This record gives sequence, C-alpha cells and structure tokens, in this order.
Amino acid sequence: MKGLIFSVRKYSIHDGPGIRVTFFMKGCPLKCRWCHNPEGISPFPEMVIQTNKIGEREFSKNEEVGTYYSVEDILEILDKEKVFFNQSKGGITFSGGEPMLQVEFLLEALKGCKENGYHTAVDTSGYSSADNYRSIIPFTDLFLFDIKHLDEAKHIESTGVSNTGIIENYRHLLESGKDIMIRIPVIPGFNDDTDHLERLKNFISSTKTASLKRINLLPFHKTASSKYKKFNFPYLMEGIIPPDEGKMRKIKELFMETGIKVKIGG
Ligand code: SF4
Repeated sequence: MKGLIFSVRKYSIHDGPGIRVTFFMKGCPLKCRWCHNPEGISPFPEMVIQTNKIGEREFSKNEEVGTYYSVEDILEILDKEKVFFNQSKGGITFSGGEPMLQVEFLLEALKGCKENGYHTAVDTSGYSSADNYRSIIPFTDLFLFDIKHLDEAKHIESTGVSNTGIIENYRHLLESGKDIMIRIPVIPGFNDDTDHLERLKNFISSTKTASLKRINLLPFHKTASSKYKKFNFPYLMEGIIPPDEGKMRKIKELFMETGIKVKIGG
C-alpha cells in the first residue's frame, strides 16, 4: 500500500511539539477559500509548469506534484532524522490536504511510527467519519484539529462542507484521552467578528477536557497567492488584508479566558 504525499518538511517546529518531520498528504474534501496549500487539494498527482525568470529570459519546466510513498519509505526518512526529534521530544506529523482521505495508508504509517517509538500527530480538518477517527486513535498521540466556524451555513459557504460532523468528531476526540490542539485560522470577514469569536471561546470553554492542551491562532496570510498562479487556480482572497498584530493580540487575550494556553502561529 502506498500514500500520495506532496511535500515532506524536515526540521518543522510548527506542526506539534519539538522538531518534527511533517508529511503533507495529497487530497482534501474541503475547498477553503483561503487555503494555504492549494497543491494539496486534488487527490491525484498533478503536473504543473514552473516558470522562472533569469534577467529578461523566462525558463519553464514541468514539475510533478505528488509522489507515492510506502510505509517503509517513510520509516527510512524518519530513521535518518530521528536524532533530531528524539533530542527535542518531537516526532512525526501527518498533515495535508486532509490525511484522513487516505485513512488506510495513514493507519499503517501511524502503526509503523508507533512500533518504532515515535511521537505521532495528525493535523486534520475534522472532516471524516467517526469510525475513521476511531481507527487511528490508538496510534495517534496528538490531534491538531481545525475549527473554522461554528455556523453551518457560513462553514458550507467558505469551505464547501458542513461542520456538523466536524464538531461531533471534535467532541469524541475530547473524550479519547489523546492530546488535542485546536487550530483556528483567523480569516478576515469569515470568522473574525466579535460575536463569532465570543461564541467560539464559550464553545471551547464549555466542552474542554484534560485532552485540550493548546489553542493555535493561525492568521490569514498571502504567501500562498503565488501558488494559485502556478496551479492556474482562481485566487479568491485578493482584496483581503491579513489581520495585524494588534488584532491577533486581542483575539489571543479573548481565548486565554478559556484557561487553555494560546499561541499565535503553529
Ligand atoms: S482543510 Fe486545509 S488543506 Fe483542505 S482546503 Fe481547507 S485549508 Fe486547504
């Protein structure tokens, strides 16, 4: 069995504790308007044309996005890096795209990692079946769980899917005893109004268990816009201004009222 992965990031410090190796798995059932990894949305390998300019001359070359890896390939990569994550109490993170879209491969990869004593994290949109989450819980130490919006209609409008199952999965994971870090993308005009942030804070406070270790606030940024050009996708966030430091600080203070640690960034 093989999994389709579009990027492997070594020495990552934003995808869970310590130094980590992050595997970005290809395919996502959501279509978030602000997605920072649009190359991860299609579940198939893609060929894109990469254009570089040197002086006045342009050079184009084909670039394949998405490579199939076996669990053995993954363990081989990890074996070379383990000194870093063992010393830093880091580990391995499966991100995407949405790693749950390749749940059979993910399960085998997580099992392989645990057999080798590695700390494992899964970075998920929460959009998969409850059974799929149940299957990986025994082999996952930490869930990085996105909560984007509490209103179903707003969620559908900006991501293409309902949040009902996502909220249910979040509640189940809170009972699993595994560590959870909530990741909230802060997207101007979508989820950053005072009323919604207040409701989200109250939701987190009223549902929290000992599993919930941290809230990460991920400010919208525009660095992904060049990827949209490269992939020939329409960029829908052109006129949107990223939240400034002052606004992010205020949101952080609000979520600190939950009693949970809050960090701006991953
Ligand atoms: S869930 Fe994540 S990877 Fe999927 S479309 Fe949304 S931002 Fe992109």
